[in-house]
Amino acid sequence: MDISLSRIKGIGPARLKAFEAAGITTVRELVMFLPKEYRDLSCPVPLSELRPGDTACVKVKVAGEASQRRAKRLVITKLYVTDGTDTVPVIWYNQPWLKNQMQPGRELLLYGRAEHRQGYVTLVSPAIEQGQGLIPVYRAIAGIPAKALRQSVEAALKLCEGQWPDELPEALRRRHGLCERNFAMRNAHFPDSREALEAARQRIAFEELLLYQIALRLFRSTGKRGVKIDFDDSAVEAFWRCLPFSPTNAQRRVLDEVAADLRSEKAMARMVQGDVGSGKTAIAFAAIALAHAGGWQSALMAPTEVLARQHYEAARKLLEPLGMKVGLLVGSLTQKQHRLAHEAIASGEWDVAIGTHALITEGVEYKHLGLVVTDEQHRFGVRQRTSLSEKGDAPNVLVMSATPIPRTLSLILYGDLDISIVDELPPGRTPVATRIVPESKRPGLYDFLRKEVAKGRQAYFVCPLVEESEAVEALPAEVVYEDLRTNRLPELNIELVHGRMKAADKDAALERFRTGQADILVSTTVIEVGVNVPNATVMVIENAERFGLAQLHQLRGRVGRGSEASWCFLMSEPTARLKFLTSTTDGFLIAQKDMELRGPGELFGTRQSGTLTAGIGALAGNTELLKLSHDEAAFLMADPESPDARAVIALARERFADKLRDVAIN
Ligand code: ADP
Ligand code: MG
Repeated sequence: MDISLSRIKGIGPARLKAFEAAGITTVRELVMFLPKEYRDLSCPVPLSELRPGDTACVKVKVAGEASQRRAKRLVITKLYVTDGTDTVPVIWYNQPWLKNQMQPGRELLLYGRAEHRQGYVTLVSPAIEQGQGLIPVYRAIAGIPAKALRQSVEAALKLCEGQWPDELPEALRRRHGLCERNFAMRNAHFPDSREALEAARQRIAFEELLLYQIALRLFRSTGKRGVKIDFDDSAVEAFWRCLPFSPTNAQRRVLDEVAADLRSEKAMARMVQGDVGSGKTAIAFAAIALAHAGGWQSALMAPTEVLARQHYEAARKLLEPLGMKVGLLVGSLTQKQHRLAHEAIASGEWDVAIGTHALITEGVEYKHLGLVVTDEQHRFGVRQRTSLSEKGDAPNVLVMSATPIPRTLSLILYGDLDISIVDELPPGRTPVATRIVPESKRPGLYDFLRKEVAKGRQAYFVCPLVEESEAVEALPAEVVYEDLRTNRLPELNIELVHGRMKAADKDAALERFRTGQADILVSTTVIEVGVNVPNATVMVIENAERFGLAQLHQLRGRVGRGSEASWCFLMSEPTARLKFLTSTTDGFLIAQKDMELRGPGELFGTRQSGTLTAGIGALAGNTELLKLSHDEAAFLMADPESPDARAVIALARERFADKLRDVAIN
């Protein structure tokens, strides 16, 4: 199973490279590359029953010639399909070749979303399917068409049919009613039935969660001594006095917890969770000031350059008057600036280094690093979070996160971190008014936007990220952007930002929005990471039903930062789930609800969690499984010399050793 992928038919040198880029080099790794979802082709929906917002399979015939038109960078292919119950338009973006493939009368099995377009229920960019039953959908790998990916996985499964030794002890499997491994792998990819799929996911998720928790326990128990920072009690009050506002009680409490950690022998490993806008930055700066008072350097790492600059400006205002030298180290600096920054960090001239990944690249040596703060950590993998902590002598680590995570879950996922919660917003905030806007009310939204912009305000448009099979397909954000600037709001200044842009272009566009040169920023969810534009008062979220509640809540936290009334418009037909969001602003309540409804994977974005792969994603709301695996880990570790425990520990080491070695920060 550890044989090279080149043994699989259809995988030539080019595809081998593409797989490699995605981290897949062996047959085993390909089989472990699990689908992110499944399409049910077993019961096509009659076109007459298709409603906007539905994602469905339809069995249809092409009803006429396809037409094609261009709109700026988009090629739009349109055709009508019928199934006897109704005739419905279908559109595809940037797949021009489809026009010649769609002869009238051709039978098609389509799977996709129905949306309102120009007054008609329209199928938008559906996948053209074959086969029956549950079909796996994989995360897109650049350079490998979806169909080829499926075929490669199928071939890989064939190659190791029946050959996976079941590494989990049988007694353990019996205890939890887990299916056998070969069965699990086959059915996770090509399920025989819904029941078989469920059993497969249970097995895979349980195994992964169990091993992860065992690994965490193993590495944690090694314990590391950390930098102990001594400072005078008065330093805390001195910092608070420098702020232009008085701290909330929650900020005071959390800083006290941080201060106690800094003073202790043990290296701090603490995560501060708090809703967007709860004032975590002030806590981070306070911790940095305390470290400085004790004679130590700090590093503050942000996930994007824009955020790093934002922190840098704020830190200079706040920390330089306290006698600290603040420096910025980001990728876009010139070579000379880089060299100077490295020197300033190594000589200790900079008391605080603020930046992006550049802070942890090779060649950066700190003089006496005592504290590392990472902002919005869910955007960093565990590896990045910890490689910075290796730069010095086990420095204290403070992680800021705006994703409230239910207690049960954070215990398991961040078992290596202590947690502080900022459960109070600064006074004087006007809550963001949240409204659901169905398609029929869309024109009213644009009128509203014109008025807000006339008042000097700005607005965000956020579109879901869709990883479709065809790598060339247009992003929803591009479609919305073109529509806004050519049809809906041509008189306004509109910027577009998405993940496929070059970092420099992205930063430039964000900067134009931040400085008020642009009225509207259209983006995929990149802006989720902490951009602070107090003048932005409107947040429009397209296809809101596609987002998790916690994510929507985070997004709306991007507005309502100033004293002006602010708005969040959820573009969707009303659903109970979305209505819940209009009824509360409590981030923890929302996170809890989200986990019940969609599973914990959604809280992180499965891809970002980095350490956990299928397990978390496959959990689908199963807090029970989290608890069971947690208890099993405790049970096994209570008697680590038993044969079963030894077997599982060996597995956990093998599976997570690389990923977790660095986590041993406390
Ligand atoms: P987040 O927790 O999302 O990182 P920030 O730290 O960016 O939140 O704070 C959001 C805004 O609230 C900032 O403009 C900040 O200056 C302000 N702020 C923070 N703490 C307080 C406070 N105690 N009183 C008033 N305003 C505050
Ligand atoms: Mg923040």
